[in-house]
Amino acid sequence: MNVFEDLESEVRSYCRSWPVVFDRAVGSRLYDEDGREYLDFFAGAGALNYGHNNPVLKQAVIDYMMRDGITHALDMHTVAKREFFQTLQDVVLAPRDLDYKVMLPGPAGANAVEAALKLARKITGRESVINFTNAFHGMTLGALSVTGNSMKRGGAGIPLVHATPMPYDNYLDGQVPDFLWFEKLLADSGSGLNEPAAVIVETVQGEGGINVARLEWLRGLAELCKRHGMLLIVDDVQMGCGRTGPFFSFEGAGFTPDIVCLSKSIGGYGLPLALTLLRPDLDVWEPGEHNGTFRGINPSFVAARTALTTYWSDRELEEATLAKGEHVAARLEKLVVEFPASGLTAKGRGLARGLQFPDGDTANKVCRAAFDRGLLMETSGPQGEVAKIMPALTITEDELDGGLDILADAVRTVS
Ligand SMILES: *Cc1c(COP(=O)(O)O)cnc(C)c1O
Repeated sequence: MNVFEDLESEVRSYCRSWPVVFDRAVGSRLYDEDGREYLDFFAGAGALNYGHNNPVLKQAVIDYMMRDGITHALDMHTVAKREFFQTLQDVVLAPRDLDYKVMLPGPAGANAVEAALKLARKITGRESVINFTNAFHGMTLGALSVTGNSMKRGGAGIPLVHATPMPYDNYLDGQVPDFLWFEKLLADSGSGLNEPAAVIVETVQGEGGINVARLEWLRGLAELCKRHGMLLIVDDVQMGCGRTGPFFSFEGAGFTPDIVCLSKSIGGYGLPLALTLLRPDLDVWEPGEHNGTFRGINPSFVAARTALTTYWSDRELEEATLAKGEHVAARLEKLVVEFPASGLTAKGRGLARGLQFPDGDTANKVCRAAFDRGLLMETSGPQGEVAKIMPALTITEDELDGGLDILADAVRTVS
């Protein structure tokens, strides 16, 4: 019996792109069971910003387990949780002048999004939420209702309602003023748009095709939300924890979201952890009104805290990420120039980068050719037309260049 093909459901996906059996991983390299090495430009879809089996985080988790530190504790008080919360406050929130309460919504990004949507509806008494074209917020029903991708939406099996999509930045090729349609619908009592409880947005759309919103567009959105009494939820599940450079992807844009969703790399070691951060005056939950068994995975707290103290006590990682991101951007631009007939576009911010092809088939072939040369890359976008370059932030410059050489070779081969 081949357990993967005979036992595992047809729903499996990433294993189809990379049909080998992985066994070990260190930093930006994975090894399959035959010992073949692969360079990682995927980083667990953004869950491995500090690399695979990061030695500092690993040691902290091992030490915690060896002293029989509590593993499962629902949301009981634990030393590991206290230390994580204190570090989050001291290293992340206080230095950025962010005043948030921290909710543990369940282990996944979708849990953080569901909690944010529920809370926004509870606070405002309104049902409708505004999302954006090509958004991705998770696979549970609430998160799916604010997700764009029609194939994923189709899996719901019921109508996905109470959400209205608006054009993301540059969706209309910059041909109309920002928020023209959105603002008109809000102002017109005949538009048919119910008063929204909230707007949920990604600053860079990871799954949607590495679509980057300009900081001034995001600031304009925040101002629009204020004017119309809508809560602003930033889904920083993929772009947070330093993916675009700063810890939060909205830093420097000149606004503060009402609610922020974090997951993926907040657990540091690839362990499950999600947080919903909320303005203190929005904390209207009744005790237990949102609940869950896995909201206190203590080894995740230990790894998360260690990641914050190791990487976010100074600006070294942020600056290195921005520099590496610029380097990737320059090399992608070179490819665009080198293959003018291929219709390539380079996109992205920080170390969330993408190379857009005219169609999904070509992007897929390039990722496949990259895999054959030992590089893991995935596609994103509505047709899978964008090859994603999302290495660990801790990748070395040599590894980064090695991967970009493979990518260039793959593009050359497919063109
Ligand atoms: C991955 C992701 C989610 C969902 O997280 P899960 O852990 O897969 O539930 C939500 N929002 C964004 C932006 C994501 O990238």
